[in-house]
Amino acid sequence: MPELPEVESVRRQLEPALLGRRFERVRVDDARLVRPSDPAEVAAELEGERVAAVERRGKYLVVRFETGRVLLIHLRMTGSLLHAPTGSLPEDPHRRAVVRLDDGSDVAYRDVRRFGTWLLLEPGEAEPYLGRRVGDEPLDALFTAARLGERLSGRRTSLKAALLDQRTLAGLGNIYADEALWRARLNPLRPAADLDEAELERLHRAIRAALEQGLARQGSTLRDYRLPDGSGGTMQDEFRVYGRGGEPCPRCGSPIDKIRVAGRGTWYCPSCQRLPARAGGGGYAASSRSASRPSRSRRQSSV
Ligand SMILES: [Zn+2]
Repeated sequence: MPELPEVESVRRQLEPALLGRRFERVRVDDARLVRPSDPAEVAAELEGERVAAVERRGKYLVVRFETGRVLLIHLRMTGSLLHAPTGSLPEDPHRRAVVRLDDGSDVAYRDVRRFGTWLLLEPGEAEPYLGRRVGDEPLDALFTAARLGERLSGRRTSLKAALLDQRTLAGLGNIYADEALWRARLNPLRPAADLDEAELERLHRAIRAALEQGLARQGSTLRDYRLPDGSGGTMQDEFRVYGRGGEPCPRCGSPIDKIRVAGRGTWYCPSCQRLPARAGGGGYAASSRSASRPSRSRRQSSV
C-alpha cells in the first residue's frame, strides 16, 4: 500500500500537471470509488473546477480547487494515477475514473483491488475531516521527539500498532514502520508508552530517515504502485528488513525474522531489536512469534 513517500512522490509529479488546470470532463466508472455518492453526480460536480493546489496529508492526496472545494484521493491498496498527454491514454481494464484537463491531457485513476476513494468536500469540510483521521506530519519541523513521546504516551498497544495508527502520526504504513523500528533498534512488540527519552530520539530520527530515503527513491514499487509518468520507485532495493525474512540483518548478520504484530506481517532483527529484559520472558513476545522462521540454519549469528 502506498505510504507517505509514495503518495508524496505522486503529489510531486502531479502538481505541475494539475496546477491551474480546469477539470474539463470527468468520468467515474466505478461507484465504489465515490460511494455513497452517485458517480455521475460527483463527476458533474467536478467538471469546471480549477485546481489551486495539490497537497498531501498523511496518505491522502489533497486537490484544492479555486472554489474552496477539495477532492481527497486515497489510493489505499492498489490505486495509482497516470498523467497522459492528449490522446495517449492506453487501454486499461482496471481504470476507474478519468479527468480530461483543459490542456487536453488526461489524468486516469487505476485501481485493481478497488479500495481507493475519491471524496469531494465542500469549502471548510476538509480540515475537520482530516483532523479527525490524520495526526502529525513526521517530516514537519513541528514534529519533534518530545511530540512523538506525547503521541505514544498512554497508548496501551505495541509500538508497531501505534506507528500504524494514522492518528499517532501520519503516513507510516507496514513498510516504513518496520524500516524505522529496525533503524531505531526497537522491538515492534515493545509497549508503545514504554520508551525512554533516548529511545524516543532514536525512533524520531529513524522515522524521518526511513521516510526521507523512501522519498529520495520515489517510493517502493512492489506490485501496483506507479508514478503519474508510469515509472516505478526503487526504494524496494533499499529495504533493510521489510520482506527480507531469513536474510542476514545488514547491521549484525543475524537472520531477519518475520512475526505478526497488529495483524500485519512484521520483519525485524531479533538480535539488534531485542525486547528489554523487563518486557521479555513473558507471554507478550512469545505468543505472537510465528512458526515460520526460514533459513535459520543458513547463517550462524555473527554477534
Ligand atoms: Zn541485526
